[in-house]
Amino acid sequence: LRNADVAMYMAKRDTKGRYRLFEPAMHERVVERLELRGELERALEHNQLEVFYQPVVRLAGGGRYGVEALLRWHHPTRGLIAPGSFIPLAEETGLIIPIGRWVIDQACMKGAELQSAIDDTIRVSVNLSVKQLQSETIVDDVMNSLRRSGLRPESLVLEVTETVMLADADVSVSRLHALKDLGVRIAMDDFGTGYSSLSYLSRLPVDILKMDRSFLGDGIDDNALAAAIMAIGERLGLEVVAEGIERPEQIESLQSLGFDLDQGFFFGRPMPAETLDQHLTAEGVEG
Ligand code: C2E
Ligand code: MG
Ligand code: MG
Repeated sequence: LRNADVAMYMAKRDTKGRYRLFEPAMHERVVERLELRGELERALEHNQLEVFYQPVVRLAGGGRYGVEALLRWHHPTRGLIAPGSFIPLAEETGLIIPIGRWVIDQACMKGAELQSAIDDTIRVSVNLSVKQLQSETIVDDVMNSLRRSGLRPESLVLEVTETVMLADADVSVSRLHALKDLGVRIAMDDFGTGYSSLSYLSRLPVDILKMDRSFLGDGIDDNALAAAIMAIGERLGLEVVAEGIERPEQIESLQSLGFDLDQGFFFGRPMPAETLDQHLTAEGVEG
């Protein structure tokens, strides 16, 4: 019966109206998930979470533009875990709310610190999942973090993905307007990979498009979609950031398309807060 229950859980999790036969590996996966879930509940209080930052650069003038906050989990036995492996779990359990609140707070503090130490135009971006955006407390949480850190609202960028339009779109739209009213900027992350129609761009108060890295071609010729995304951004008066730049050739073709804002391993991997200051100082000297 226990095994049947596990198979049912897997069937429900995958898709509606399917059946699954029990396999021993399923049991291990369910147990592992339960374990991870318990451990994630305690991760915050045990100081196992850390916010890494990845630079976003401005090519023209060779300057700094900002940093994106990216969460990491120092798991006691599994080592460093990337967000792709635990954010979905955090969303399922609702833990994303306290964890996300903590990330916003950390990022605002770091942003304020970078502004006074290095460059007062630096922006800090934080990813928000749908669950967070739809929570009742999100506007207060952001307001509190801004107040505590002293960071100017326009220096904070909140990144959401097109999936916000798949859940309760009306709630997403009104939350984003309320956040926008605080003075923060809104970015559409992984732009171009979602399932929604482009019409949401006129309903949402978006300031920045972050083009998903899947649109980066290897040469000028296969950049037609990147060019189209740039054109959309320009017509709507939005800033456009190219994500996932790994090789110098990519910069050249992006620059010819008008992409000025870039992010990727080539410019710097996500790094701990302490290393970031050094990196940004060196970046400024080179520029
Ligand atoms: P994202 O917001 O699109 O973040 C960019 C991801 O691309 C990061 O992965 C980053 O390490 C990776 N990346 C950056 N440059 C390159 C590159 O040149 N090449 C390649 N191959 N990858 C690159 P990461 O840190 O694993 O984060 C994955 C996703 O997890 C993020 O995607 C974001 O959606 C989510 N996430 C991260 N931190 C948080 C958080 O604090 N809260 C929430 N709700 N979601 C988060
Ligand atoms: Mg992002
Ligand atoms: Mg992205």
